[in-house]
Amino acid sequence: MAKTFKCITITILFLVLPILVSAGDDGLVKKTRYLMDTYCSIYTPKSEDADKAMDKALDSVEALNNKFSAFLSGSQVYEFNTKGTPITDPEIMKVIKIALDVTAKSGGAFDITVKPLITLWGFYGELPKDPKVPGKDALSAALKLIGPGTVAVQDGKLVKLRKTAQIDLGAVAKGYAVDRAMRSLKESGIKSALVDLGGDIYALGTYKGKPWKAGIKNPRGEGALGVMDLTELSISTSGDYERYFVKDGRRYCHIIDPRTGYPATELMCAAIIAPDATLADALSTAVFVLGREKGLELLKAYPQTEAIIIDAQGGVSLSEGLKKIFSKTKKGGKDEE
Ligand code: ADP
Ligand code: MG
Repeated sequence: MAKTFKCITITILFLVLPILVSAGDDGLVKKTRYLMDTYCSIYTPKSEDADKAMDKALDSVEALNNKFSAFLSGSQVYEFNTKGTPITDPEIMKVIKIALDVTAKSGGAFDITVKPLITLWGFYGELPKDPKVPGKDALSAALKLIGPGTVAVQDGKLVKLRKTAQIDLGAVAKGYAVDRAMRSLKESGIKSALVDLGGDIYALGTYKGKPWKAGIKNPRGEGALGVMDLTELSISTSGDYERYFVKDGRRYCHIIDPRTGYPATELMCAAIIAPDATLADALSTAVFVLGREKGLELLKAYPQTEAIIIDAQGGVSLSEGLKKIFSKTKKGGKDEE
């Protein structure tokens, strides 16, 4: 027990993720690689095939690491952004179509064309020592470059409708990579596993006959707010504590509201549970921007999705279906309901 628990606690410390897994001990094997700017860990019960299967699944994430990068010269996303070359890759298009659906249903709170704003706020690469809040003119100039109307899917390809459009799949690609890793594990005959890519998690099957467990970390303090049972489910979190800076007492995080140009401020954290990790990832970013009421409203458009929402004051809200699989720990934050 201690061993597994400790590894995951370390992950939290590095990534400040609200997820920890207390899945038991000795019977588990784990492999980790640094991929997609974070740690990708796979846990599975010991078996003859486990080692090879985990390596293969990690290889599949590594391939996506390059494919989805907006910064790797030669990747379709990079060529689209810099030269306007249409995106044709079926895997990227699959993810883009899911993203565009979330954009439409969220009223533009989720938007892959947000890249010029992220650049303006300086959230790519290392944060500067003295980060600055962009001025009004720079913000309105960047806002003119973005929006769902700047790109379109035509004949199955993503094309630019405006020359200046640029996309960033950072809010959804990690989820897709988790789904891809899971598919690879299943193809290798694995029946029970947990994949964690920087807080985007999928739980396959059960462990020792019980669901896998995930904890939601207190976003502003120590310990877990609660523990959740997961089986054949994914959870993804978006929070204001992963990448942010504080200026004049205000916190500015890396998730931007494309409608205003400013970092989203409604929530500390949105954790979304969904049948697949791609959707969970996109929705966690969308709900984080939308806030509690509108976020829960958005989830109604997506069957079998649930949410744990922590608002800016630390109030915890659970969607209805979650109450069956989530148990709060003592002192687990202020209750909203
Ligand atoms: P994580 O940092 O854990 O990947 P998210 O899945 O929420 O968290 O993705 C955040 C990333 O998505 C940002 O770093 C940025 O590149 C991009 N992004 C920021 N705001 C938005 C938005 N409103 N819609 C889509 N993508 C966004
Ligand atoms: Mg996301």
